Amino acid sequence: MKVNDLPYNYPDQKGHFGPYGGSFVSETLSHALDELRKAYAHYQNDPEFLEEFHRELKHFVGRPSPIYHAKRWSEQLGGAQIYFKREDLNHTGAHKVNNTIGQALLAKRMGKPRVIAETGAGQHGVASATVAARFGMKCVVYMGSTDVARQAANVYRMKLLGAEVVPVESGSKTLKDALNEAMRDWVTNVEDTFYIIGTVAGPHPYPMMVRDFNSVVGKECLWQMPEMVGRQPDMVVACVGGGSNAMGIFYDYINVPGVELVGVEAGGEGVDTGHHAASLSAGTPGVLHGNRTYLLQDANGQIIETHSVSAGLDYPGVGPEHAWLKDSGRARYEPINDQEALEAFHTCCRIEGIIPALETSHALAYAAKVAPSLPKDKVILVNLSGRGDKDMHTVAQAGGLSL
Ligand SMILES: *Cc1c(COP(=O)(O)O)cnc(C)c1O
Repeated sequence: MKVNDLPYNYPDQKGHFGPYGGSFVSETLSHALDELRKAYAHYQNDPEFLEEFHRELKHFVGRPSPIYHAKRWSEQLGGAQIYFKREDLNHTGAHKVNNTIGQALLAKRMGKPRVIAETGAGQHGVASATVAARFGMKCVVYMGSTDVARQAANVYRMKLLGAEVVPVESGSKTLKDALNEAMRDWVTNVEDTFYIIGTVAGPHPYPMMVRDFNSVVGKECLWQMPEMVGRQPDMVVACVGGGSNAMGIFYDYINVPGVELVGVEAGGEGVDTGHHAASLSAGTPGVLHGNRTYLLQDANGQIIETHSVSAGLDYPGVGPEHAWLKDSGRARYEPINDQEALEAFHTCCRIEGIIPALETSHALAYAAKVAPSLPKDKVILVNLSGRGDKDMHTVAQAGGLSL
């Protein structure tokens, strides 16, 4: 994709982003997806739907989120100026709520009183339980039993919000098993049930729909940056797990020439150790969870066990649109390892008074790595995707301050 191929217009009718995306599902699921596609095609342009979505974002979430100049950190690094888009200030503490509100409103319009979700670390489960409570819907969250044990605080939050949490005992008892179970539930209960997916992955239309709901982030930056800095940033940086916060801030910048887009993946213990979750830096194309994308797989197509200090980045695939942005050259993707992310985490806490999520800390580490080599008048905008309250235990265990 060159600048003269713009305006960017993906996916196509069938959900393809170049050779990626699409819909690789069973017959029964394809019926449910058809219904969803039709409903979204209608409501995405419905003024009354959009008005309600934006009203919720304003009064329930607290949007627009501010942009903040990380002045002390920028001065210390001595190069480019770093700015944060403060998604950590959203209700529930991250960008995920933007998307769950959009999907819950769609579920309501489609006459589905029950929502289901899958969750790994629990953040998407909490965001789904939150909007289900807000709109008076029944909510069931599937979670691998290993994760249920590891994420007790988030399980308790979901229950406080009125959700039922179902521990999944199959397979490795983690996210991908929870995902299979949620799919099974959806097929069985499609009449009254809406499946809320938590990132820009899954079969069409999910990658497009989740991107669209999250793109409010970049849309705000488009007017906030000129107001604050007098122009658009030179570089936009976001961490990539499934890729929803990154697509949220990238999407409206794809058509703005001269803005470099950088996605930061979990390099774990180092990409060359094999213990990481850097699907775009080290993966190969294949099909997982209903779409074609870059995956961490072995020569036989078996998914490889991933590792990251941050649970939200610990996923062996990535949204198909990122696969396309990588191949087309419009965005590039860089790994940051656990240690670098933890260092950025601690620096951000002490120098800016902001405790970032460990996922976000990967994006911060990359910004801090490149800023010193850039002139002082260059501008880096980092999507501060979430706050780090949920990560206290992990940080303490990783050898930060003891808890
Ligand atoms: C879940 C999460 C992520 C990773 O998900 P994406 O879909 O890649 O955005 C990143 N940051 C925070 C704070 C999260 O909670």
